[in-house]
Amino acid sequence: MKLDTLKNKLCCPFDKSDLSLKIITQDEHDNVLEGILSCSECKRVYPIVSGIPIMTPDEFREPALEEPMFEKWERFLEGGKVKNFRLTEGKE
Ligand SMILES: [Zn+2]
Repeated sequence: MKLDTLKNKLCCPFDKSDLSLKIITQDEHDNVLEGILSCSECKRVYPIVSGIPIMTPDEFREPALEEPMFEKWERFLEGGKVKNFRLTEGKE
């Protein structure tokens, strides 16, 4: 998905807040292939996989599928952990 689209068009489906984007991989045409969208309001995180943001309601998400992904992307979470699809602060 195009970087511009991600930055300008997408908001959190739950509270319509702006999402912040961390780019993990992108191609030479500004398409984001892998990344993490996070909501400052409800703290939900939405992975971008193969260019597709996964923004389905919680009940349709599979923690077992997403956990390995967020583990792999741990360093992009800046010390935070993903729990129940929400980002929790690493430092306590
Ligand atoms: Zn939200």
